[in-house]
Amino acid sequence: MQIQDLRLRLRALGAKPEHEQRVLRDWVQVRVRDSGRRRPGNYLPLALREALPAIEAELAGLTRLISSHPGEDGSARLLVGLQDGQTVESVLLPRDGLCVSSQVGCAVGCVFCMTGRDGLIRQVSSAEIVAQVTLARTLRPVKKVVFMGMGEPAHNLDNVIEAINLLGSEGNIGHKNLVFSSVGDPRIFTRLAEGQVKPALALSLHTSKAELRERLLPRAPRLTPDELVELGERYARATGYPIQYQWTLLDGINDSAEELDGIVRLLSGKYALLNMIPYNAIPDLEFQRPSWEKAAAIARHLHQRGILTKLRDSAGQDVDGGCGQLRARAQTGSAP
Ligand code: SF4
Repeated sequence: MQIQDLRLRLRALGAKPEHEQRVLRDWVQVRVRDSGRRRPGNYLPLALREALPAIEAELAGLTRLISSHPGEDGSARLLVGLQDGQTVESVLLPRDGLCVSSQVGCAVGCVFCMTGRDGLIRQVSSAEIVAQVTLARTLRPVKKVVFMGMGEPAHNLDNVIEAINLLGSEGNIGHKNLVFSSVGDPRIFTRLAEGQVKPALALSLHTSKAELRERLLPRAPRLTPDELVELGERYARATGYPIQYQWTLLDGINDSAEELDGIVRLLSGKYALLNMIPYNAIPDLEFQRPSWEKAAAIARHLHQRGILTKLRDSAGQDVDGGCGQLRARAQTGSAP
C-alpha cells in the first residue's frame, strides 16, 4: 500500500481534507490504539466511519514484530515482517531515534555490507516505511527517523519522499530530525531541496579517494568524493542543516594518514559533521573493525585539525546485528 492510495481511498469514502488529516495523524502518531482515546467519530462521514476499523486493521497489519534484540547501549534491533513474508530491520536508537529500512535488499552492493550481497529484492512501500515508525511507537516514543537501514533511499525515492512528507507533516517529527541517508545519487539534491518537507542529509563518503570509493561502493553513482561534497555543501546551505558525512572505518583500508589529509582537504570550512563509525565486522567478509583506541585517536586528530568529528558506535553492536544481519540469520535459521 502506498500513502497516496490510502488518501484516495479515504477521499472515495467522503473524507474532506481535515478528515483525511485526522485519520492519517491518528495512524502515524499511534493515537487511538495506544491511548484508548475515543475518536470523535461523529465528525467523520458515515461511510468513512464504517470503513475505518477495517482500514485501521489493514494499516496495523502492514508490519509485525518478529523479534527484538536489545543492545547494551539502549538500542534494539527489530526484525520486522511485511505482509508478503519479506522482512526488514528497524533499529530503536538511544534518545528516541529510529532507523528504518527503505528497501528489501539493496542494489548498491557495498562490499562491506551484508544487505548488499543479495542485490535488490523489492522496494518498501511508503506506507510500509511509515508502518515501521508506527510499530516502533507501540514500543517507545519516536522523535527522530533516520533512513539508514536496509536499502538505498535514493533508489526508492518517490516512496521515501512520500513517507517523509507524512512523517514531517502529521507525524510530529521535526524536519531536521528526518535524516535521509544516501551514497550520493545526484537526483536527491534537487528533489529533496524542492520538497514540502526537507530532511537533513547524511552522505556516505567512506574515503577521499575516487578509485577506492568505486571499489568499496561498486554500483553507487560515479560521483567523486569532491563532487559529492560539493553537492552536499549546496544542499546544506540551501536548507540550513549541516551534512552528516558517514565514514565507516575499515581497519587498514581507509584509516591512513593520507586519508585523514584527504578528509581535511574535503571538509575544511564546510557546513558539515563527520560521523566516524568503526566497522561492525561480519563473518565471511574480509574487513576488520579497528580498535576503539585507534578510532578515538583518529577522531581526536581530525578534531584538532578543525573537522567536527563524532565517533559513533554502530547501534546494537553488542548484539552482532549489523545492517542486514538479523534478516540474513532469520533466513538461514541460525539463532540470534
Ligand atoms: Fe546498500 Fe547501504 Fe548496504 Fe551499501 S551499506 S549495500 S547502500 S544497504
